[in-house]
Amino acid sequence: MKYKLIIGLEIHLQLATASKMFCDCPNISLEEKPNINICSVCLGQPGALPILNEKALEMILKLGLALNGQIQRKFYFERKNYFYPDLPKGYQISQKKVPIIKNAEIDLGEKQVKIIEIHLEEDTGKIYHQDDGVNLDFNRAGVPLIEIVSAPEIETARQAKEYCEEIQAIARTLGISEANMEKGEMRCEVNVSLNSGERVEIKNLNSFRAVERSIEYEIKRQTKVLEEGGFVFLETRGWDEKNNKTISQRKKEESGDYRYFPEPDLPVFEIDDDLLKKIKKLLPELPSEKRKKLTNQYGFSQLYAKILSREDKILKFVEETMEILKSKMVEITEGDDVVDEEKMSKKVGDWIINKLFGMETTMSNKFYEKIKASDFADFMFLVLSRRIFSNQMAENILKKMYKTGETAEEVLNDESMQKTDDCDQIKKTVELVLENYPEVVVDYKKGKKSVIKYLLGQAMFATHGKVEPKKLEKMILKYLEE
Ligand SMILES: [Zn+2]
Repeated sequence: MKYKLIIGLEIHLQLATASKMFCDCPNISLEEKPNINICSVCLGQPGALPILNEKALEMILKLGLALNGQIQRKFYFERKNYFYPDLPKGYQISQKKVPIIKNAEIDLGEKQVKIIEIHLEEDTGKIYHQDDGVNLDFNRAGVPLIEIVSAPEIETARQAKEYCEEIQAIARTLGISEANMEKGEMRCEVNVSLNSGERVEIKNLNSFRAVERSIEYEIKRQTKVLEEGGFVFLETRGWDEKNNKTISQRKKEESGDYRYFPEPDLPVFEIDDDLLKKIKKLLPELPSEKRKKLTNQYGFSQLYAKILSREDKILKFVEETMEILKSKMVEITEGDDVVDEEKMSKKVGDWIINKLFGMETTMSNKFYEKIKASDFADFMFLVLSRRIFSNQMAENILKKMYKTGETAEEVLNDESMQKTDDCDQIKKTVELVLENYPEVVVDYKKGKKSVIKYLLGQAMFATHGKVEPKKLEKMILKYLEE
C-alpha cells in the first residue's frame, strides 16, 4: 500500500454495577418502559448532589491493574458542557485532564497495543425518533461508562477487530461488563486516516465484523479520494450495514469547545494502597495469560491457543491432556525421532477443534463432561504412537468414547473394533474395491503408479481401518501385478 494507515479506537463499556454512577437508580438501561429508573440526580435537577458509586471505581481500577496501567492516585471529575436533548443536565460528568488510568497495554499475542488512557464517565439518555415525534428515555442517563482510548498504532482492519474482541474477553473475565455490542454495552468508534489525509471517525458499529469491514471500506474510499487529487476531510461517518459502506454524517470542527471545568459537586478523590492491594489480590487470569500458557508451555500456535483458551473448562482439559502426554513424550516416536511438542500440540488441537467441537453439535453433553482429560490423553497417545493407525478408526473410537464414557482401551477391546487378521475377508474386500474402480486399475496398469494411494484409501474405508495399511497395500499390489 502506498499510504501509511493509522487506526485508533475509542471503546465505551457499560459497567455492570447494580446502580448508576452517581445515584441509587438501578443500572438497567434497556427497560421495557421508558423513564422508570430516574431520579433528581441523574436528571440533574437543581440542588441534587451526585455521590460516586465505589463499585464503578473498583471496576476501572481492576481494568487498569490488569492492563498494567499507571493509576492516578489523585483524580477528579470534570463537566463536559454541551447541549443535546438526550443530556438532561446540559453537561456530562467525565474526565479530561486526569483520567484515572494512563499508559496501559493490551497484549494481542503478535502485537502489543498501547492504551493512552482509560477514564470514567456517565452515559446519556436515548432519543427515539418515532411517528408521534421525538421521544426521550432517560433510563440510561447516568449509567457508568469506561472509555478506553488506544494509541493510533493499530495496523490493519483485522487487528482492530482482534483488539475489540480482546477488550470484550477481558471485560468479561474481569466481570466489569457484559460487553455485548448488539446491546450497546460495548461501543466502538474507529479513527482511520492515511498519512496524507485527515482523520475520519466511524460510528454506528454494532459488531466486530462491522469494525473490520468499515475500516476496509474506508481505506479504499480514502485511497481513491487521494489518488484522484482530492482531500480527505475531518468528519464523522456512519457505517451502513445494509449497503456495506460508510456515509458522511457531519463535518467536524476541531474538537468542539466543551468548556470543561472541574465538577464542583464532587471532591478530589484519593486512591489508597489498601484498595489497590485488595483489587490486585482478586484479579483473575487474563485471556492473554491463558493463551501464553498454551503457546509457551505446550507449543500451541497463536490461533489454536486463542480457540482453546476461550472457555476455562476446555483450557483445563487441554492443560491436563498435555501434561500427561509430555510425561510420555519419550515413548512417542515417529520413525527414529521422538515426536516434538509442537507436533504433539498441533495434533491435540486438531482433534479437539476439528473433531470434538464438531461431534459436540449432535451430543447433549459437552465433550469434557463425557471424556476425561486423562482418557483423551491416552487416546492421543495411541494415535501419536500409531497404535491406532487409521484416522477413520480413531474417529470411530473417539465417537464411542464420547457417547459411552469408555476409555480408548476399552473401546479398542470391543470386538467390533478389533484389528482383523481374517485373510479371506480382507481378500474379498480388496477384490470388491478393485471391481468398483476398474478405470483406476487401468490407470495403474498404464503406469500411473500413484493411484495405488486412492485404492488403498478406499480399501481402508471399506475395512473400517481395522486392517494395517501396509498389509492392505501389499495385498492390493499383489492383485494389480497379477
Ligand atoms: Zn438516578
